[in-house]
Amino acid sequence: MLNKKTVDDISVKGKRVLVRCDFNVPLKDGKITDENRLVAALPTINKLIQDGGKVILCSHLGKPKGEVKPELSLAPVAKRLSELLNKAVVFAADDNVVGENAKKAIEAMKEGDVVLLENTRFRVEETKNGEAFSKDLASLADVFVNDAFGTAHRAHCSNVGVTQYVEEAVVGYLMQKEIEFLGNAVNNPKRPFVAILGGAKVSDKINVINNLLEKVDTLIIGGGMAYTFLKAMGNEVGKSLLEADKLDYAKEMIQKAEDKGVRFLLPIDHVVAQEFKNDTPFKVVPRGGIEVDWEGLDIGPETRALYADALKDAKTVVWNGPMGVFEFENFAQGTIAVAEALANIEATTIIGGGDSAAAVNNLGFGDKMTHISTGGGASLEFLEGKELPGVAAANDK
Ligand code: ADP
Ligand code: MG
Repeated sequence: MLNKKTVDDISVKGKRVLVRCDFNVPLKDGKITDENRLVAALPTINKLIQDGGKVILCSHLGKPKGEVKPELSLAPVAKRLSELLNKAVVFAADDNVVGENAKKAIEAMKEGDVVLLENTRFRVEETKNGEAFSKDLASLADVFVNDAFGTAHRAHCSNVGVTQYVEEAVVGYLMQKEIEFLGNAVNNPKRPFVAILGGAKVSDKINVINNLLEKVDTLIIGGGMAYTFLKAMGNEVGKSLLEADKLDYAKEMIQKAEDKGVRFLLPIDHVVAQEFKNDTPFKVVPRGGIEVDWEGLDIGPETRALYADALKDAKTVVWNGPMGVFEFENFAQGTIAVAEALANIEATTIIGGGDSAAAVNNLGFGDKMTHISTGGGASLEFLEGKELPGVAAANDK
């Protein structure tokens, strides 16, 4: 269980509450193209409004790198949030984030009012966890709520530095939900516990593989990273993704799985092509059958069946990384098959990782999963077993 104070453990009536949200939404021509992150933030905001807090929201958006970039202003977010909350959201348009607009707006606040500050990354100190900006932010508030899971793996002013200068720092409902789902799955799973790892590279996920091998009953590998393991076992992989400097590591992991009694599954067939694009001839070959000019872009039909079968009785599943180049329709079948297998079992199913979450949502399986993490990088570091600085900075219960 989470040992951090949450919004349920504090009284905010009449207090100025600074809430770090993750409003890092995709924008196109000033329009929000995916508002999942805004919707995910509503429960905490509504709770604080109902409790009579003066709710001051802040977030980063994109990577302005300490410069004022008008196209990365949070103004469109204020507008959309106001519609979602059915309530005025006053936007404090200060280029320095904590400026005259913010101060005036906050002074005028009544209980239950909402103000949104400008993009925290307009300030160069933000990503360096600099003291001046942390203090500026804290000067606006009595208490602090961190509900931004997406940045919890970073120590920045608006999620870590600021906590030193407020009466109380707690986590919000979204953060709580993420930590409880990911934490319970990894540390207290109902068994059999199966992890599925895929995606592009072994090197991105070295610590994830290593940590999960300590915990799972079965580890399933697909995607680009599979070829380094297959090569390490002596199979030809043609021009598939291969990390030659990770062959020893791959061997070590195969050995570790054996020592721990973890069932370790690798593809038994592949969908291969000669060019990395959708519209190119492709065929299915067995393990070891990839010719020199060909590369594996998806798991094959027998592997799909094998993996679905291995998932049949699972009670907890954590999935990170697509099984193939799912962005190309011709090479999405493996990822679809795994998503389908998860949709059809009675298990806690958790998706971590940015591309995996996008794949599951785009392929239409989003509402079939128990939990899809809103934080790609943060969920990965969680699966690595690391403590997230954004969570660590909140007060203990
Ligand atoms: P996540 O963001 O979920 O952690 P990754 O970023 O590790 O996932 O990997 C996602 C990428 O891996 C996708 O863009 C996908 O196209 C790519 N990928 C999957 N399988 C292969 C493969 N066989 N060859 C090349 N790229 C692959
Ligand atoms: Mg990714």
